[in-house]
Amino acid sequence: MRKQIAAANWKMNLTITEGQQLLDQLLSHSYDLNENRQVVFAVPAPYLAMAQAAVSEKKHIHIAAQNCYNKKSGAYTGETSVVMLNSLGITHVVLGHSERREYFQESNQFLAEKVNIALEHQITPIFCCGEPLQIREAGTQNEFVAKQLEESLYHLSADELKKVVIAYEPIWAIGTGKTATSEQAQEMHAYIRQQLAAKYGDAVAQEITILYGGSVKASNAQELFSQPDVDGGLVGGASLIADEFKVIIDSLK
Ligand code: PEP
Repeated sequence: MRKQIAAANWKMNLTITEGQQLLDQLLSHSYDLNENRQVVFAVPAPYLAMAQAAVSEKKHIHIAAQNCYNKKSGAYTGETSVVMLNSLGITHVVLGHSERREYFQESNQFLAEKVNIALEHQITPIFCCGEPLQIREAGTQNEFVAKQLEESLYHLSADELKKVVIAYEPIWAIGTGKTATSEQAQEMHAYIRQQLAAKYGDAVAQEITILYGGSVKASNAQELFSQPDVDGGLVGGASLIADEFKVIIDSLK
C-alpha cells in the first residue's frame, strides 16, 4: 500500500506557546499510525526545533519546514537551508506551495532546484501543484498541472521521484472554504498518476503518495481520502484546531 499522510500546514500562524499547546493536545491522543500511515506538521521556521523535540519520541509523526532555499549555505539573509534542517533532524519540506509561487514568484525551474537540494540531503519534498480558478474555468487544469510536474520533477530518476510526495492543491480551494468535490480530486489525482506512469512506468506511479489540499476539514476528510488515488491531505486552516485535525488523521485510509 502507498504511504497515506495527514500533513498540517500551519502557515504563518500561532505564537510558540500556541503551537506548543496545539501539539500537546494532538500528541496526547493516540493514533493508528505505521510506516504507511503517517502524520507531518509543517510549522513556521522559528518553531522547527520546538516541534521536532515534541515529536522526538513519536513514531511516524514528522516535522516539515514550510520552505527551504536552493543553496546549502552562504550570504542569503533570511533563508533556511537544507543543512540547517538536517542539523535539526527535520525530515520533510513543503515546496512550491501556491502562496510561495504567488507572493514570492517561485517558478517551476527554481522549485526543481529546491527539490534537488532537498533530495540530496535526504529530506522528503512535499511538492505542491495546482491550478488557479481561471485555469479551472477554462478547463485547462490538466495541462497546467502537467507542466508544473514536468518542469519541476521530470528531471529526477525513478528512484528519486519515489522519494517525493506530491500535493495537489487547486488554488481556488485553498483557504476559501470551497473544497474540490471528491470526484474532482480523484479525477486530477488519477490524471497525475497517469502522467507519472507515462513518464516513469506504472509500478513507480503506483508508489507515489499524492495528497489533496484545499479546505480539507473533519467533515469532508473521510470522503476525500477514500478516493482510490487520494493518499491523504495537506491541511491549512483545519490543522490549527486540535479536534478537527484529530478527526482528519483518523480519516486516513
Ligand atoms: C494549505 O495550506 O495548503 C491549504 C490547503 O489550506 P486550507 O486547508 O486552509 O485550504
